[in-house]
Amino acid sequence: MEPAYFEAGEPCAVLTTQPLDRPLDYLAPEGGCWSGSYVEVPLGPRRVLGVVWGPAAGDYDRAKLRAVLRVLDVPPMRDELRDFIIKAADYTLTPLPAMLRLATRAPGLSDAPATRRIYRLGEGEPDRMTDARQRVLETMREYGGLAFTQRELAEMAGVTSSVIKGLVKQGALREEDAPKDLPFPHLDPNHKGKDLTEDQAAAATHLAQGIASGTYGTTLLKGVTGSGKTEVYLEAVAACLKRGRQALVLLPEIALTSEFLTRLEARFGGRPAEWHSGVTMTERRRTWKMVAENGAQVVVGARSALFLPFRDLGLIVVDEEHDTSYKQEDGVLYNARDMAVLRASLCSARVVLASATPSLETWANAEAGKYDRLDLTSRFGEAVMPEMEAVDMRAETLAASTWISPTLRKAAQERIDRGEQALLFLNRRGYAPVTICRACGHQVACPHCDARMVEHRFLKRLMCHQCGETTPMPEECPSCHVAGKLAPVGPGVERLAEEATTLFPDARIAVLSSDLFGSARALKEEIKRIADGAADIIIGTQMVAKGHNFPNLTLVGVIDADLGLQGSDLRAAERTFQLMRQVAGRAGRSTKRGLALMQTFQPEHPVIRAILSGDEEGFWQAEAAERQAAGVPPYGRMAGVIVSSEELNDAFDLANQLTRQCEPLRSVGAQVFGPAPAPIARIRGRHRVRLLVKSPKGVALQKAIALWVRNVRVKNTTRLTIDIDPQSFL
Ligand code: ADP
Ligand code: ZN
Repeated sequence: MEPAYFEAGEPCAVLTTQPLDRPLDYLAPEGGCWSGSYVEVPLGPRRVLGVVWGPAAGDYDRAKLRAVLRVLDVPPMRDELRDFIIKAADYTLTPLPAMLRLATRAPGLSDAPATRRIYRLGEGEPDRMTDARQRVLETMREYGGLAFTQRELAEMAGVTSSVIKGLVKQGALREEDAPKDLPFPHLDPNHKGKDLTEDQAAAATHLAQGIASGTYGTTLLKGVTGSGKTEVYLEAVAACLKRGRQALVLLPEIALTSEFLTRLEARFGGRPAEWHSGVTMTERRRTWKMVAENGAQVVVGARSALFLPFRDLGLIVVDEEHDTSYKQEDGVLYNARDMAVLRASLCSARVVLASATPSLETWANAEAGKYDRLDLTSRFGEAVMPEMEAVDMRAETLAASTWISPTLRKAAQERIDRGEQALLFLNRRGYAPVTICRACGHQVACPHCDARMVEHRFLKRLMCHQCGETTPMPEECPSCHVAGKLAPVGPGVERLAEEATTLFPDARIAVLSSDLFGSARALKEEIKRIADGAADIIIGTQMVAKGHNFPNLTLVGVIDADLGLQGSDLRAAERTFQLMRQVAGRAGRSTKRGLALMQTFQPEHPVIRAILSGDEEGFWQAEAAERQAAGVPPYGRMAGVIVSSEELNDAFDLANQLTRQCEPLRSVGAQVFGPAPAPIARIRGRHRVRLLVKSPKGVALQKAIALWVRNVRVKNTTRLTIDIDPQSFL
């Protein structure tokens, strides 16, 4: 379809990123505009960003219409992206402007193209090294050859601009005028791939054939950690580039490492565009524009990269597709994995969902024949899956307030003696999850949330993991005011490290927990240092389960394999299964056979048994049967509704009103459960009340919900959040 063109002065509708319920009419500017043009329009006293959405609604006095101020110098939004935004908004019940905001999150988009002054490392040395100068040079080296504007550099290094000017004068930094937003280096699909194993080659060929078909299709690429899934999907990327189309590789934020980018660079002879929280504002805008203008062939990014204005997207890879971080839990609630499938279906692209432990949703779609499925069954080279054993905690003798069993201790000591690494896994940050007063029994809780305060001993503070509130560790009990009686209960990684230090006095012990590092970058560097051999014992939370190779790691000890099984969450079993297998997959990734020891009080629990026996298909079949019987996802549909307010009564009033007026839901066969206080009943001082909507598969649930909530009046102090396909039930 030819996009519509609006002559100067002709009315057209513009969707802005402002929270209005519909597009507004404006007059096309001098030179006219296309449907899809990105524009700036006046709104009240402000200039705001928008997109020409189509013909004017015409219900507003034409004489009062204001003119579009300017058409931005970027290609108009393509129909495919527009469709995607509309459908994604419908699916997630998100207002269109919020969706458009996701798709235009590139600061400075409306700045005129021009040159800018940038800084690179120079040849010279400063005459005198100061801390500030040192920081600037280290920042430059850390980002290996990237250029920055003065402001970015000053901010990142925490120095004033005079420090930067000083370094320029000495030749340690080089100043250049660069055109804004240069294209990314050309990527060559024929550069040099690895020789694939027979399995890998067969999988790569299958994916390449899909791409050659030029039609939509989704493939589950399943293979144990280390089987070469990345190698295989890089071949799919190559096939896509050969056809002149763009490729997007989505990774969970934590897996976005320089290791991965280096690998991609080695394969294609150039670095791809990046899109994630670690990218500077300038680079974000560059990526956004180049993706639209044919200056970026491959984007490696976190979930919001899905909303970039690709010119011709031919492939989306979702690596670690089961990862819960693909579900955005704040603002627009969407699941990037599902939205990737949606977007691909609208632009005749292929999707590759890669995982060692796919989600049950994806597994079921493959079973049902909606997705193809490729299996890589063996690890590349010599590496084999680790042996898995339970440590039956009922038969172990442990001193009070210790968590490492004699069996695990012995196994770890053996690795240390052999110069290998052992990982002790515990999915709990901080020192102790609970702080209790031994005088009165009070448990220290967050003043704003329904959550216990977690002791962080390195920081000497108590912290709320819901809202981030922290207080210094109190001397006396906040309730009975007796001093010196507060005691930690249960272990977090910091406490486990303390125990390990006592048990293994000669070992080098490293704790990997996201809160112990200032930035994601610092954390990733530490992971790399440890993988290179800087520690004998690694103590870590779930972030070690993702994405990084520890070649010398041969033992994984899971401190509490039962931890994830306790939740009432419908995905508790699935999550435990995935997490335990991912963690175990860290052991023995190179040539040494690994061992995974799982401490458990219920070794006969079906989930634990499935993990130990490695009977994945058996596990999924059993899990699928249970969900099918209960009519829950993926065999039924769900939506979570959270009503929150500072006044508990207001929250309950609205929730009760919703339950009473649920006719629109009932008419499609959906049921409402609740209201009940949400499992986390208060966050940041707001009370939270929850309803759960359940319906059979195949009904138009979103439509029914939209009708349903339209009937109630929401006070402006009360907030109603709807989460389609909820992943977390907190
Ligand atoms: P996965 O993505 O399944 O975890 P990777 O693709 O990361 O697996 O492969 C694991 C390791 O094996 C990597 O270091 C990778 O470079 C190596 N590898 C996999 N396949 C090959 C191959 N065909 N030739 C050389 N190295 C390979
Ligand atoms: Zn809190």
